[in-house]
Amino acid sequence: MPPINLVVIINALQPCLFAEMDAIDMKSLKAKFVSFAVVAGFSVLATLPLQAQTVATGPRAVAVLLCQYSDKPNTYGYTAAGILNTTWLPNNITMNGATVDNSISGLIAEATYGNITLTGTQAFGWFTLPNPLASYPVSSNAGDDCITAAQSNGVNLTPFTYVAVYVNDVLNDASGESWTATLPGPASPTQLNALIVGVRGFTSPPLVLHEIGHILCLSGYGGSHTDSFSDPLGGGAALGDDPMQPIKNGETALRVASVSPEWDASRRELMGLIPTASNPQFAGGTQTYNLSRLTQPLLGLPTAIDVPLPGGTKYVISARTHIGYDSYQTFPNDLYITGDTMATEGVRIELFTSTNVDAHVEMSNPGGDPTSTDAVWLTGQTYTDTANGITIAVTNFNPTGDPTAQITVTSTGTQTQAHRAQSSLKVR
Ligand SMILES: [Zn+2]
Repeated sequence: MPPINLVVIINALQPCLFAEMDAIDMKSLKAKFVSFAVVAGFSVLATLPLQAQTVATGPRAVAVLLCQYSDKPNTYGYTAAGILNTTWLPNNITMNGATVDNSISGLIAEATYGNITLTGTQAFGWFTLPNPLASYPVSSNAGDDCITAAQSNGVNLTPFTYVAVYVNDVLNDASGESWTATLPGPASPTQLNALIVGVRGFTSPPLVLHEIGHILCLSGYGGSHTDSFSDPLGGGAALGDDPMQPIKNGETALRVASVSPEWDASRRELMGLIPTASNPQFAGGTQTYNLSRLTQPLLGLPTAIDVPLPGGTKYVISARTHIGYDSYQTFPNDLYITGDTMATEGVRIELFTSTNVDAHVEMSNPGGDPTSTDAVWLTGQTYTDTANGITIAVTNFNPTGDPTAQITVTSTGTQTQAHRAQSSLKVR
């Protein structure tokens, strides 16, 4: 089957809006998570390959830059060395009684099967921006000014592929943003090469990871948001405490969110992380697949099964288990989202739509909530898309087994899109 090219339109800038998360109940938290994905505009026409691609490999050093607005003197005790050691370089925390690495560098290495590392990453700052907070309605302008300020203060950015800017207060237009900066170093293999986060970023490695998710996606595409709670580009991007707020009662320090989980299978396809040989395309009839877990895959087994649908959409089937960074709780405290799909191991069925990239969802049981464990498929369960005549049966799922799952996909091809409303599809 030849590759199918889809045309998508996406903004070059990726503003990312996160709802304030303090002192709100879980239901509203979920609602806010589901609705946070906002893209401000559409300006770049790009071609999106439907099938897996391979990106360039090797180290991509990040220059982490700390900048303060000219009218905001408080840097909350954060230092360049501190953020490097708590977020970027390997660092150990205690999680469920185990010692685990909570670093972005470790997660990137695992998610890319060691093909991409952040080796050479360094941090610099603080530097002072030339203007006050109010004069930066577009956050990337503050980011560009921060890059200039760092260079003016002797920072040589030539060794770095990416820049990550942290500022000491809010951003005016988002919680985080990625953009294309003018950098002297090795060209980014993707369109985007820089990210900026507000002061919340110091306690929110998942927010930084969210922006990296945009950056890692293939050239011209820039990533997309999802409604999936098992993906950093969706509800998986939790926030830590707000340094500008008092420490919560009963806590002795600001709580830092865990950098996890890794990206969903469809995102990893967009990032070029899944080799073609590990990404079979369902071609009709009945096919049974032995499937590996998505993270730390088992040798010789596919990690993502694509089921093409009419109109350029597709299902992407994967198996998520609690291994590596996918074993971390999204947030090890009372902000932990109990309905998070990563709380339960199982098979995920994502609906990837090219026409509305922000509507990517995980498929749930009929009437279920696709942002909850309703979207986790276990042994004996069958997903039915009546409209397209497709069934996806999980004949076996064993998180510690080899294979991790056995999946049978069947297409009757006898029904039409007109019956879609009667299918078990639940799309948010
Ligand atoms: Zn975003």
